[in-house]
Amino acid sequence: MQNSQVEQEQSNIECYKSINPYNEELVNEHPYDSEEKLLEKLKASHKAFNVWKSKSLKERSEPIKKFANVLSEKKEDFAKLVVREMGKPYQQAVEEIELCAQICEYAVKKAPSFLSDEEAEFENGKAFITYQPQGVILSIQPWNFPFYQAIRYAIPNIIAGNTTLLSHASSVWGSAKNIESALLEAGLPEGVFQLIYPQSEDIGVLYEQREVRGVTFTGSPSTGKKIAQEAGKNLKKTVLELGGSDAYIVTENADLDKAVASCVEGRIGNNGQTCTAAKRFIVVEKVYEEFKKKFVQAMSEVQTGDPMEKTTKLGPLVRKDLLEKLNEQVEESLDMGAKCLTGGNIMKKKGFFFEPTVLENLAPGMPAYDEELFGPVASLIKAKDLDDAIQIANSSRFGLGCGIFGNENEIVKVAKEQYDTGMIDINGYSSAKPNLPFGGVKDSGYGREHARFGFHEFMNIKTIKIHN
Ligand code: NAD
Repeated sequence: MQNSQVEQEQSNIECYKSINPYNEELVNEHPYDSEEKLLEKLKASHKAFNVWKSKSLKERSEPIKKFANVLSEKKEDFAKLVVREMGKPYQQAVEEIELCAQICEYAVKKAPSFLSDEEAEFENGKAFITYQPQGVILSIQPWNFPFYQAIRYAIPNIIAGNTTLLSHASSVWGSAKNIESALLEAGLPEGVFQLIYPQSEDIGVLYEQREVRGVTFTGSPSTGKKIAQEAGKNLKKTVLELGGSDAYIVTENADLDKAVASCVEGRIGNNGQTCTAAKRFIVVEKVYEEFKKKFVQAMSEVQTGDPMEKTTKLGPLVRKDLLEKLNEQVEESLDMGAKCLTGGNIMKKKGFFFEPTVLENLAPGMPAYDEELFGPVASLIKAKDLDDAIQIANSSRFGLGCGIFGNENEIVKVAKEQYDTGMIDINGYSSAKPNLPFGGVKDSGYGREHARFGFHEFMNIKTIKIHN
C-alpha cells in the first residue's frame, strides 16, 4: 500500500481517549491499529521469533535482568502515570512495579530448571521431555494492574523463547508504552514484545493466523467466553484469568481484629478493583455481630481522596461506566431487600468515587450476592457454622481466591479438601507472588500464571524417544 493511502486509512481510524479518573481530564489518546497494521505486527513478531528462539537461555535472560533494573530505577515515574491513568493509590502503584521487577528476577533465576530437559523411562531405549517455544502468543489484558498484568505472562514466555503481541486495555495505553520502551531500553530485540491497538472486533483476524500459537486473556468472564470461543474455533490454546467473588470466612476462633484489618485491606486495595479482592464476608453467627460492628466502623473510616496523597487509602474507580455499573448493582440489591450499613452511593464530587460500603441481608439472586462487585462494596453474609460458610462460599459461580480466619489446624484440611477455589489465604490477605501459582476454577477461568506452571502454559512439551 502507498504511504498516502496508509495515512488516509489511519486518519479514518477512530482515536481512543483515556481519562484521569480523579480529575476527569484527558490523559492520553491513541489511534487504533487497522487490520492491516495488526497483520504487519504479527509478521514482525513471527520474524523475531525465528531469531529469538535460537538464542541461548542466557542470551534471552540478559535483557530481562536489565529490564528489572530499569523498572527499579524508573518505578516512581512509571507509578505516577499508572495513578493518572487508572487512579490507584501511588504507593500501591510503586509496589506493583516492584513486584514486576521481582517477577523478572525470579524468571531469570528459575528458567534454567523450569526449562531443562527431563529424562523419562522408555523400555526400548531412552527418552526425554523437552520444553520448546512455539511462536507468537497473543495477549489481551485489563487495566487494573497495568504493569503486573503484562509482565506476569510476558516475561516467562519471552525467556522461554516465544514472542508476544499485547493488546492492553485502552485506559492504560500510556503505561503499556512505558513497558515496551523499557524492554527495548533493556536490549530486547525489536519485535519480541509489541503492543497492538485493536478495536476489539478487529482482533478476530489474529486468531485465524497460523503464526499465533496461543492466546492468554485476563478480564471478565463474559469477554473471556467470547475470546475462548473465537480462539477455540481456530484451535488455539487459551489461558483464561477471569473474575472472582472471593469469600472471606470468619470462624468463631478467629482473631477478630486481625480478620477485620485483613478484610478491609482485601476489599479496598487497588480501589476495590482486584480479581482476588475480598468481596463476600461470610461470618459464623457466634461472632457475626462483633465482626460486623468492627468491620463497618473500619470501612466507614477509610480515607478516600487524591490517589497521589500518602494518606489516601481509596481512590476513584477507573471509568465512569464502571462506577455506574457498581452503583446499579448496589441499588438493585437494595431494591431486593439488602440493607446498607455504611456508604452505598456515588460520591458527590469530581472523579469516579464510590463510598466504602457494607451491605447485609443478602440473598441469592441479588447482584451483591451472586455477581462480582468491582469496587469498594463489601457483602456481609451470616453463616451457621464453618460447614455452612463453606457451602455458601462454594455456591458462587466463581472460584478464584478466598480466605479463612480461625484455628489453623481446623482450617487447613477444609481449605485443601472442601473450598472450591484456586487460591486460599489463611489468617491474612496477600497479593500475587512469583513463586506461587495464580489462577482459578469454574467461571474464574483456567490455566495458571507464575511458578513453573506459568512457564509451561505455552511451551511445546515435546517427547523424544531414542530406540536401542
Ligand atoms: P474486560 O473483559 O471488559 O476487558 C479486558 C480486556 O479485554 C481489555 O483490554 C478490553 O479492551 C479487552 N476486550 C474486551 N472485549 C474484547 C473482545 N471482544 N475482543 C478482544 N478484546 C476485548 O474486563 P475489565 O473490566 O477490563 O477487567 C476487569 C475484570 O478482569 C474483572 O472481572 C477482574 O476480576 C478480571 N481480572 C482477573 C484477573 C485474574 O488474574 N484472574 C486479574 C485482573 C483482572
